[in-house]
Amino acid sequence: MGETQGHGHQEGHGHAQGSKYGMVIDLDKCTGCGACMVACMAENNVPTKPDETNKLDTITWMRVFKLSNGKAFPEAETCYLPRPCMHCGGKHDAGHSPCVSVCPATATDYSYKTGIVSQIYTRCFGCRYCMGACPYKARYFNWWDPKFPADMKEYLSPDVSVRMRGIVEKCSFCFHRYQRAMDRAFYEGRELEEHEYQTACTQACPAGAITFGDLNNERHMVHKVVNDKHEGHAVLQGRKPFRLLEELDTNPKVYYLSARDWVVKAGNASLRETKPATKKPSGGHH
Ligand code: SF4
Ligand code: SF4
Repeated sequence: MGETQGHGHQEGHGHAQGSKYGMVIDLDKCTGCGACMVACMAENNVPTKPDETNKLDTITWMRVFKLSNGKAFPEAETCYLPRPCMHCGGKHDAGHSPCVSVCPATATDYSYKTGIVSQIYTRCFGCRYCMGACPYKARYFNWWDPKFPADMKEYLSPDVSVRMRGIVEKCSFCFHRYQRAMDRAFYEGRELEEHEYQTACTQACPAGAITFGDLNNERHMVHKVVNDKHEGHAVLQGRKPFRLLEELDTNPKVYYLSARDWVVKAGNASLRETKPATKKPSGGHH
């Protein structure tokens, strides 16, 4: 992502008029195929590791988690939950995202123009405060310089800079696609259309589980889904969009849909900090 995105501090608080890009992910449609993860890595020059099983070392801006209702066959049910960066707006959507608030280098910033949380690689010095602050575990540290197989060099996207060892990265909502589409619209003297700016994961999903657009634009599908209005008809059929860890006031811009109550609970439980069981001192001696 380029350095032109993070204008939060300069733009002040006139954000009510701006766009608010966000996503709705239908968990009852997602099959867990992982196409979104692959498309994201390819689009954003995320290198693969020789051992992708080491989840502490691998980088997956979009990661699909498997949830279970914890019951035995035949009541057992599974759900797959794709997790990009939530592009949190913070309390009252004022731009105080957890990661933005702690970064001492303004290497991650909130844009009031788009609602997108940037990551500015050339400013990041790798303290990893943001990783500790992110309740969605959506940030990744580069422990090594990226290595791409020789025959993949030609394949790298020129629109996205590769990241070096020692810095943090995360999902950008494919911000380079926004820049490209905006440039075209500006050149042609018109507004940006919904279909012109879509993330790679949205386009790759074969189940059509991901909807992306401007939550503030009533013509965009994400707005219609979140507000349950589509040409006068309800689109959710009684289902309520929910966000993860609502109680933290992070105001995520990623909404989820599911008709199953246990999915909401299991999704939140997978992210809540659990305290390790501590043994009570058994009195008397020590
Ligand atoms: S999900 Fe994490 S990285 Fe993304 S904006 Fe929220 S706190 Fe920041
Ligand atoms: S690791 Fe980088 S982006 Fe994260 S808080 Fe530190 S300087 Fe900011």
